[in-house]
Amino acid sequence: MLRISELKLPLDHTPEELAAAVADFLKVAAEDVRGFTVFKRSYDARKGVMSLVYIIDVDVANEDKLFARFKGDRRVAPTPDTNYYYVGQAPAELKQRPVVVGFGPCGIFAALILAQMGFKPIVLERGKEVRQRTKDTWGLWRKSQLNTESNVQYGEGGAGTFSDGKLYSQIKDPRHLGRKVLTEFVKAGAPEEILYLARPHIGTFRLVSMVENMRAEIIALGGEIRFEQRVDDVILENGRIRGVKLADGGEVLSDYVVLALGHSARDTFQMLEKRGVYMEAKPFSIGVRIEHPQSLIDQARWGKYAGHPILGAADYKLVHHASNGRAVYSFCMCPGGTVVAATSEEKRVVTNGMSQYSRNERNANSGFVVSISPEVDYPGGPLAGLDFQRELESKAYDLGGGDYFAPAQLLGDFMAGKPSTKLGEVEPSYKPGVTMTDLARILPDFCVEAMREAIPHFARQIRGYDLHDAVLTGLETRTSSPLRITRGDDYQSLNVKGLFPAGEGAGYAGGILSAGVDGIKIAEAVAQAILGGR
Ligand code: FAD
Repeated sequence: MLRISELKLPLDHTPEELAAAVADFLKVAAEDVRGFTVFKRSYDARKGVMSLVYIIDVDVANEDKLFARFKGDRRVAPTPDTNYYYVGQAPAELKQRPVVVGFGPCGIFAALILAQMGFKPIVLERGKEVRQRTKDTWGLWRKSQLNTESNVQYGEGGAGTFSDGKLYSQIKDPRHLGRKVLTEFVKAGAPEEILYLARPHIGTFRLVSMVENMRAEIIALGGEIRFEQRVDDVILENGRIRGVKLADGGEVLSDYVVLALGHSARDTFQMLEKRGVYMEAKPFSIGVRIEHPQSLIDQARWGKYAGHPILGAADYKLVHHASNGRAVYSFCMCPGGTVVAATSEEKRVVTNGMSQYSRNERNANSGFVVSISPEVDYPGGPLAGLDFQRELESKAYDLGGGDYFAPAQLLGDFMAGKPSTKLGEVEPSYKPGVTMTDLARILPDFCVEAMREAIPHFARQIRGYDLHDAVLTGLETRTSSPLRITRGDDYQSLNVKGLFPAGEGAGYAGGILSAGVDGIKIAEAVAQAILGGR
């Protein structure tokens, strides 16, 4: 197979025009093209003209001649092998069943790959199965009732279940493990387009049934998934893990334990620190969610092409390096979505964003956040970042006036340094509701300063971003894990053999795709450790 890249076509081209463009590009007769598949489709809006840009894998006659003809042209190359190859197979007599703690994207992929290799993993998940969890999560949004063990952060599917389901990442991926993640998602019910769109997403509803399908596959392969099983302790012996203790007093013994906890398992982090598992504080970011009308973002990004069905709701990515040394940036942008209450702890308010596949809600939202680091902002050990998050989330709860209402402010008022008293043209989507106030009262001064400086810069890239009535809702504190459970080259904890810290909570992923990829790497490391008797 031969891969061609940078093949540009107009937005409204037909499938026949694409086929003709492939043959034209290669300067061959149409009959010589035996078939082709789209590997990636993105768009290019330079010079005011919107085009689609393709990477295409072509099955074509006389391939060798074509490689010779296009020698030195980087747009033509052999199609790389993106298939996934397992690192091993479990022996028929399996002496050790690995344990996976947490069933978010990282735990799902760790368990799935282990199961596919025959290792019959046991998954322990503190939350409930996804349908029941969905009801509990809506309980907070609709009735201000938080279930601290079943919510946006905890339960089957992990933190990304109620999300925009964006499936792209900037990780280096020479082994194409991201492709394996996407392929498994498609097998579980995701639309095929995620395999070729440059910035794919699936939205919340589909994620729910996909997670159920992946659970079914793990079970069919001999794995087990136990819900409402919170790991409260680890059993250690001479620097090696021997198993875990559960909240209900039970124990699960294994010499191989994957910790795919997510960034919100604060009680578990505290337990691990008490047990002496090596960890260190790491940087993350804090700020607010910002909401604009989606039509404003579409207009700014797509201009006359706004509303074109192939483009969908527009997203954006913004960064500004402020003069006080802080990076201010947009985080987890959700086109046509809603701002969600994302706390897992009582009397705390945390924001995040989600959307459905259609992305057709009125507002665009994204995190508008500022970088912070342990050296400067929360010195004092591995858990200091967690205390810092808790303090901010409690302040947000109080400023919101209780019942999980979030404090909010109009952007124009935030810029002018005055509290908001009423809403303008943008209706905020956060439920159970917002209280208009002054967010500068609870954000650190350096954040407020950096955010105010960033707004005019962002407005130069997205016209209208500085809309007076855009709504800021706070606080956004769980952008990534505040700590890292450091691991060595063998993917095991630096000081506990057999313990495999993984995914976002351990500081090795940020987002669904990268957490899934980390899950695959961890499954491979566990398999190799078991097979090698390590
Ligand atoms: P998690 O998904 O957090 O899973 C960890 C699991 O471990 C949880 O299910 C938890 O219940 C369980 N657990 C924790 N402690 C214990 C314990 N002691 N015992 C047993 N089980 C335990 N990312 C994207 O790429 N795209 C998006 O569009 C996107 N949108 C998001 C929207 C929202 C509202 C949120 C909250 C996050 C979003 N993210 C998104 C981020 C993404 O969800 C995370 O990066 C990803 O889920 C991390 O995967 P993980 O498996 O490492 O951890």
